[in-house]
Amino acid sequence: MADIVLDKVTKKYPDGALAVQEVNLEIADGEFIILVGPSGCGKSTTLNMLAGLEDITSGELRIGGERVNERAPKDRDIAMVFQSYALYPHMTVRENMAFPLRLAKVDNKTVDAKVNEAAKILDLGQHLDRKPSNLSGGQRQRVAMGRAIVRSPKAFLMDEPLSNLDAKLRVQMRTEVSRLQKNLGTTTVYVTHDQTEAMTLGDRVVVMRGGAVQQVGSPQFLYENPANLFVAGFIGSPA
Ligand code: ADP
Ligand code: MG
Repeated sequence: MADIVLDKVTKKYPDGALAVQEVNLEIADGEFIILVGPSGCGKSTTLNMLAGLEDITSGELRIGGERVNERAPKDRDIAMVFQSYALYPHMTVRENMAFPLRLAKVDNKTVDAKVNEAAKILDLGQHLDRKPSNLSGGQRQRVAMGRAIVRSPKAFLMDEPLSNLDAKLRVQMRTEVSRLQKNLGTTTVYVTHDQTEAMTLGDRVVVMRGGAVQQVGSPQFLYENPANLFVAGFIGSPA
């Protein structure tokens, strides 16, 4: 687990697009933070900078008190869950979940223990020897989460992880994600453009617009005290 600090973090893409503008944010150890806002507001860019998949143009990113701007993704001890499951079709569930540990040259015994533990948490115990093509969408998404969990990362980053699922499954998986985050207590940054997810899942919500943070607060606080009309309209508060 780790605290994450964004200090005037800015992203200007080479073509000149100012995707993220001086974002300041302090995420506490174990906190579940939601980044929400309309398409193109800079959510994915922010998450990708946290993961180290995009360079930070200016400002500083600190994880656990250390500047990590220049640190490679693999050295940040952060696990990313994408909206496309990106599972390996030729590997079983067990092999898919073990993959990040194999890459890290973890010994077989530890790999088995970690995979079994993750499978238990995610209720995938009966499916370990199946291939992804024989799983439901929800089960596949749980395998993708399993791949993140096995590494016991300091933080999870999730970019619209449920947006490919049908409505019923999405509601079910929201409960899963919430339960998982509480059980593990791992610092989580979760990106969504879905107001319901934003208002029900996290401890605090960051509302973004045009690359800038509009307001940060608990769902209830934002609902009762929206900073402006955009926030009010976006989260559906009556103000
Ligand atoms: P969101 O995830 O909130 O939909 P993004 O972070 O993907 O938003 O995009 C923020 C802005 O940056 C948008 O205007 C988008 O067009 C632009 N953008 C995203 N990725 C790139 C890129 N690789 N190169 C140039 N501009 C980009
Ligand atoms: Mg996005």
